[in-house]
Amino acid sequence: MNTERHSTRSRSSRLPEAQRRELEALRDYIRREYRTFVGYPCRGDLDYSELYDFFAYPVNNVGDPFAPSTYRLHTREIERKVLAWFAELNHIADGDYWGYVTNGGTEGNIYGLFLAREILPEGIVYYSEDTHYSVAKNLRVLRMKHIMIKSQPSGEIDYDDLRRSLEIHRDAPPIIFANIGTTMTEAVDDVQKIRAMLQEMAVPEHYIHCDAALSGMTLPFQEGAPVFDFRAGIDSISISGHKFIGSPIPCGIVLAKKRYVERIARSIEYVGTLDTTLTGSRNAVTPLFLWYAIHTRGAEGFRREVAECIEKADYAIGKLAEIGVEAWRNPFAITVVFPAPPPPVLEKWQIAVNRGRAHIITLQSITREQIDELAADIAAAMARAPEVRPERPAPPVRGEGVVPEAKLREIFIVTANRPGLVADISEVLAAHGINIESLDAEEVHGLATVVLTVDRYDEALKCLRNAGFDAVSEDALVVRIKDEPGSLARLSRRFKDAGINLRCLRILRRHEGLAWIALSTPRTAEAKALVEDCSV
Ligand SMILES: *Cc1c(COP(=O)(O)O)cnc(C)c1O
Repeated sequence: MNTERHSTRSRSSRLPEAQRRELEALRDYIRREYRTFVGYPCRGDLDYSELYDFFAYPVNNVGDPFAPSTYRLHTREIERKVLAWFAELNHIADGDYWGYVTNGGTEGNIYGLFLAREILPEGIVYYSEDTHYSVAKNLRVLRMKHIMIKSQPSGEIDYDDLRRSLEIHRDAPPIIFANIGTTMTEAVDDVQKIRAMLQEMAVPEHYIHCDAALSGMTLPFQEGAPVFDFRAGIDSISISGHKFIGSPIPCGIVLAKKRYVERIARSIEYVGTLDTTLTGSRNAVTPLFLWYAIHTRGAEGFRREVAECIEKADYAIGKLAEIGVEAWRNPFAITVVFPAPPPPVLEKWQIAVNRGRAHIITLQSITREQIDELAADIAAAMARAPEVRPERPAPPVRGEGVVPEAKLREIFIVTANRPGLVADISEVLAAHGINIESLDAEEVHGLATVVLTVDRYDEALKCLRNAGFDAVSEDALVVRIKDEPGSLARLSRRFKDAGINLRCLRILRRHEGLAWIALSTPRTAEAKALVEDCSV
């Protein structure tokens, strides 16, 4: 951290002594609090000093960034370049999009919903219960009909509940408010799946807005991440600028299909421009920040930063596991979720808590030292107050949708199938008073793969093994490959090429020319994507 950078330059002050000291105290306060700022998705450690001269002028991007204005102290060209960069990132062609640099994710969300309402006045907005708190208020401001949909434990929208609600309200066109990274768990709603659902239901008109406040800057830089942009048929998107990119002044971008915006444009003589934006006067400095970030870091820089943040997230999960705290993250997420820590920890650290869960976001400015210190503080607080040990997190979800990977803690059993197999497994566990939370069984070529989650993990593993079952633990991935020379080497090669270490690899079974392999890596999400074609 280089928080000292700007404050050490000596300046003569025009402030009276008392106010100068007040300012100094405030600076100290911010510097101090910054050390424990780990629970919000806003990057720190910023340096935009090259742009400070612009603060001397009343620059203002009033009105439409694409229309000329009689107010000539503006940074519209830079703003348009920023928008063009985001348009390319989100796969919408030049000339097809419109947008502007907003005051943050919230403004972009209001804008998307406003367009949706103008296009589908009878529409109903569907959004999950994990949606950012500002959205419910904005829907009231816009007086739009809305239905809250259940979420899965991971934070992703519950597709069955969505489908049921859509079926009940078939007469009204749906407006889907999709979360591309929920605030609490950074879960991603599957836009492609929702679109397929709408098509299957023969819904004639719909609108999809993506709230990609944080993940709009992380998913595009990860291999195999879900596609949520204009390729997936969305109509508008909002991304925050002060989150992953980082800015001392909140900002963001909104992009929408141009033809929608043309319907709401009104020409205003006073400023000689089109009144297509929500506010009149607009910040002309934040587009410079975004432009500066894009050109000093670039796509390659962002890709590297995201990879580092992911590694740090796994580091945090490991650190917390060491002290007995079950932390997890969604695939592709840099948000590490864990049970709310004891109060003394929350007094020191700036960590948001919601419904018994806490999270930290391992952004660029978060250091491993901070993670170590936080883990040590949690451990110490738990030792002092064992009765407030964190509760176990909600049971993992299986099947379709996002599986919170670090918390999945599944047990795999691969064995010859026989009648009564599942009953036998259940009996072993029942005899030890262990509850089964979920159980999936699948048979391939006479071999059964049983995947289960239980309430007491370590004990379950032990007693299943004692009962003679070949039970595989943890975040293991089970894959099936051809049992022939070279195929294990090819499998290992994939991990080597992707730069992922194999923590362990074990042949579980060989049967009818096939081999079942269990493997585990420190980077489960990426590993999972690597072996998607052969995973069991
Ligand atoms: C932060 C956040 C918002 C609000 O964005 P601001 O930039 O703070 O206005 C909206 N949605 C999600 C998912 C967020 O994380």
